[in-house]
Amino acid sequence: MSEKARAVFLDRDGVLNQAAVRNGCPFPPQSLGEVTILPGVKAACHKLREAGFLLIAVTNQPDIARGTASPVTVAEINGFLQTELGIHEFRVCAHDDLHRCTCRKPEPGLLFEAAEKWNIDLAASIMVGDRWRDIEAGQRAGCKTAFIDYAYNERRPIWMDVSVTSLDEASHWILTGMRKELDCHV
Ligand SMILES: [Mg+2]
Ligand SMILES: [Zn+2]
Repeated sequence: MSEKARAVFLDRDGVLNQAAVRNGCPFPPQSLGEVTILPGVKAACHKLREAGFLLIAVTNQPDIARGTASPVTVAEINGFLQTELGIHEFRVCAHDDLHRCTCRKPEPGLLFEAAEKWNIDLAASIMVGDRWRDIEAGQRAGCKTAFIDYAYNERRPIWMDVSVTSLDEASHWILTGMRKELDCHV
């Protein structure tokens, strides 16, 4: 049996690219033209890849199910980010809560599917996200979790391994051994 891979699972909006914030809540860009890669993200992805991590984007895009975003546009945005940032794979949940799928975060299905495909050691992997759904999905998959806290007007995760302000900061935490002394209290 070959050695297992380690992955950093990356939420998309608010982690890789800027989310549009309205009334304190984040929304995805609606076209490729609205996509802005956040500062430090390209370098952070590069450093994590160099350190041997697989980069797997896992994103909820319920606007597809709601009919307010086209799958083509979502795929176009994902393709752009994947190429720009050197992400190994993009995995999308296109459902909404009522579908009761196993892939809409906080369900961990996207992470489990990727782990199966890439032979990933989930306990040695990390989920980075900016909403409670990301962090809970990471925990349910058995990963470590890094929460990028923008103080959105919504509930926060109950618990995370570290709270940071950017993917750059999260990558620093990952690459320096994921020590506990950073803020890890809610
Ligand atoms: Mg997000
Ligand atoms: Zn789904």
